[in-house]
Amino acid sequence: MMTRDEIRELAAFQADETKGACALSFYFQPDPPQDRSHRREAIVAKDVVKQALKSAAASGKNGPLHADLDRVLDLATNLRGSARGRAVFACSAQNFWKEYELPPRLGGTQIYLQPRFQLKPLAALLGAQPTLSVAVVDRQRARFFDLRLDDLRERGAIVHMLSRNASSDGFNGYEAGHAERRVSEEALQHFKAVAERLRIDFEKGIWERLIVGCQDANWREFEAHLHPYVRQRLIGRFSADVASVSNEEIRDHAGAVLNQWIAKRASTKAGEAVDFAKSNGRGVTGLRRVLQALEAGEVQSIFLTENYSARAVECPNCGHLDAHLVPSCVACGRPTRELTDVSDAIIPIAIRRDIELFYLKEHADLDRAGNIAALLRFRSDQTTGQLAAAS
Ligand SMILES: [Zn+2]
Repeated sequence: MMTRDEIRELAAFQADETKGACALSFYFQPDPPQDRSHRREAIVAKDVVKQALKSAAASGKNGPLHADLDRVLDLATNLRGSARGRAVFACSAQNFWKEYELPPRLGGTQIYLQPRFQLKPLAALLGAQPTLSVAVVDRQRARFFDLRLDDLRERGAIVHMLSRNASSDGFNGYEAGHAERRVSEEALQHFKAVAERLRIDFEKGIWERLIVGCQDANWREFEAHLHPYVRQRLIGRFSADVASVSNEEIRDHAGAVLNQWIAKRASTKAGEAVDFAKSNGRGVTGLRRVLQALEAGEVQSIFLTENYSARAVECPNCGHLDAHLVPSCVACGRPTRELTDVSDAIIPIAIRRDIELFYLKEHADLDRAGNIAALLRFRSDQTTGQLAAAS
């Protein structure tokens, strides 16, 4: 499982260009299951790496980079038939090699040789992924899972086996009714215990959002026992039978609920950012304003259309980003360097500062607003104004 700290480490990495070092990022995208027999994916992966080897040799970048590429080529050769995506981040000049399994939604198999790791496919995947708990519940069992990037891990379980139910006791009338009530009471105590466990884990910070897998018949009874702030954190539910559901099914159902929730949330929040920008509130649109807000530390969430790309300059000395392609930095006067895509600089900043990053497939308002927008935590100009007014 990829942790936030690991992602931050990748975002903070900078290859020492003065020593000819280079940050290699490799993403492997498997074919969809129906095409898997064609084995195209492994061939594509090998070609991509071989091409990179050739251009590295042509540009005289041998040594450590060549060693990294050889190692990636080995890996690509063995990816035949894999259903999972894969990412490698390497810089042997600085003794760095990290390999991750990822959900097969990486856009394509690609290799990048840049001063920083290419995190866009990862950022698009991560979006604003919450720390997610999945609870699969019935009247006598509950299983708790963590889900992160398609990686499902069981965290624990609660089992309160019910007494043999009334019908199998072979009693009639009063006895049967009595046994039934006993079983209902046991189920109720079980649901309470599960709800309590969810509350405690939430308070410990183990999860931020919750998905419940539960048979429709049990849902209303169980839901009634959820603590109000646990219920607020519930993002959806799927129908499942604890006794028979497989881990793959849990992962797929929960993944679908999560993706739907992220897409809906992204769309709503992007709309808010555009509206707030118009009313001069907590939103900005367009690259220039987004970069300014980013530098002022105001940004909470960034919204980009899926294929957003824009040129900009970056100051290698102070880190200032400018949407105008100025030759020297407006902040410190040093020479700037041009970025073919400003996302390469925005993404690591967003990851380091825990800014939510949303990629949107279609959003008419965002398209019209320059394909990039941000929601702000505050606006420094307005805060100062309010303070002045207050004093
Ligand atoms: Zn500067």
